[in-house]
Formats: sequence, structure tokens, C-alpha cells
Amino acid sequence: MNYQALLDEITSEVLALPVRGDVARYIPELAHVRPDQFGIALRRQDGTTFGAGDWEVRFSIQSIAKVLLLSLACSLDNDLVWSRVGVEPSGDPFNSLVQLEFEEGMPRNPLINAGALVVCDILLQLLPDPKTELLSFVRALAGDKSIDFDRAVAMSELQSGSRNRALSHFMKSFGNIEHSVDEVLDFYVHACSLAMSCNHVVQAFSFMAEHGLNMPSEVRVLSVSQVRRLNAVMLTCGFYDESGDFAFHVGLPGKSGVGGGIVAVCPGRFTAAAWSPRLGTKGNSILATEALRRLAQRSNASVF
Ligand code: GLU
Repeated sequence: MNYQALLDEITSEVLALPVRGDVARYIPELAHVRPDQFGIALRRQDGTTFGAGDWEVRFSIQSIAKVLLLSLACSLDNDLVWSRVGVEPSGDPFNSLVQLEFEEGMPRNPLINAGALVVCDILLQLLPDPKTELLSFVRALAGDKSIDFDRAVAMSELQSGSRNRALSHFMKSFGNIEHSVDEVLDFYVHACSLAMSCNHVVQAFSFMAEHGLNMPSEVRVLSVSQVRRLNAVMLTCGFYDESGDFAFHVGLPGKSGVGGGIVAVCPGRFTAAAWSPRLGTKGNSILATEALRRLAQRSNASVF
């Protein structure tokens, strides 16, 4: 398979598509991103990496960070994590409050905002300095010490994050948030603000395609069974109320973020990431989704 030719072909095709969607504006700092950028990267199992377009431009990974937070938490205390968040798709928008009332403060899954806020609370409990530990974890996974939080994005989200504040207070009233809401939110917005390129993302997620082993370091991040479960959660819950659509059209576990990035995992074969800031109505990048659909189809990659 000539992946470089495939990525080049997909890049020129999607860039020629009619322009649709808009950047996320509810986090003011994200509204400044140039909307028509597009990048795609693929890391094959042998470590060879291919990229096209803006694949080395750093963007705000936003909710893609939820998988990294979850991986770090599971590596420290797997049972604790799954005693406090569920594994069912929500079928609701990423920041919805409605189900939480019926389910008494237990988030449906760790990839919606409520679930990720609980995972942040767990990490605050397990680590003395979770922001620094998360940064080291991600830098080691991606093999690049220059990866950092984008503090302007973090502060912008903190100032505009009434919904996440509401979610945290609501869960705290049910006893599923132990730390102060300010501490949880501060950690959460920093995690979401991580600035990484498509190239960084495919390196950082290599363990998801390599049965738990980070490559090329061969450090075990998670057990084989833990990684299977994380991939299952990404497949069923990685795109909020568009998760079924992504599974149907792309057929790979993945996770999107409102920064316009998407990571997709083909276990045993490759990790891919695409980025383009214009989002559809459900908060997922239009061009990144389309590019990954074409990639999966033409490379015959699917978990089914
Ligand atoms: N930080 C964003 C929020 O909480 C993440 C949402 C997303 O990327 O889907 O609203």
C-alpha cells in the first residue's frame, strides 16, 4: 500500500470540496484559528510515518485529550475509573446535562465532558501534580519534549466554561466529584488545550494500535485487555451523538475534538490523524471525517 500517495490524493480531493462548517467559537481563542487548514498523518505498525498538508502544524487537540487522560488514569487505577464512569454511548451532545440527573451523577462514558471531568477528578486524587504528570506522559508517548499546553486556549475556556462548571457542580452534588470544581476545571481545560500536530497525535496513539505498547520505546502503557476496552469505548462513544455515523462510515475506533482534530486507530496496522478546523453541527471536523472515511475505504481498513 502506497500510503504517501494515498494521503496526497485524499488531501487534494478534500481541499477541493465545497467549504462548509465553521470553527468552534464558544471557546473564544479557538475562533482565531485559520479555518481552511487541513493535515493528515498515518503511522504504520513498523513506525514509518506519512503525512500530507498541514500535518506538522500544531492545533488544540481538545477532546482527543480525553483518551490520554483516560489512559493515564487506567494505567494507575483501572478499577477506580470504571467504578465512577460508565461505558454506554450517550447519544447526546458532548456537554449535555440531561442524562446526569437520571443517572445520579454517573457519566455515561469517559469521552463526554462529564466523564472526562470525573477522570480529571480521579487523576487529582492519584497524582500530586497531575498537570505536570500529564505533560510528561504525553511528551513520552509522542517522543517530543516540546509538546505543551496552550495557556491562552486554557484561560479562554476557563472564562467561558459555564457549562463544564455546571456539570462539575452537578456531579459534585451526587458525590462523584471530590475536589473543588475550580481544581477539576483548571486541570481539564489545560488537558484540552494541549497543542499537538497530526504527526504528534499518531505517535502518541501508537500504543492503541500496538496492543498497549508505545512505539518505538516499547514501554507498556496499558495491558492488551485495557487497550481493547479503550478502543471499544472510542468506537461507540468517540464522536458524541455522531458516534454511530463514524463507526458506520469509517469503521475504526476514533476520537474527535472541537479543535478540528480526529484520531483513528486500526489495531495491528496503523494510527491516523486528520485535522481541519471547520466543524459540522455535532462538533466534529467535516474535512477530517471525510478524509478518514476515504482513507479507511481505500486502504481497506476496518475493525469489522
Ligand atoms: N474543551 C472542550 C469542551 O469542554 C472539549 C469539547 C470537544 O472537543 O468536543 O467544551
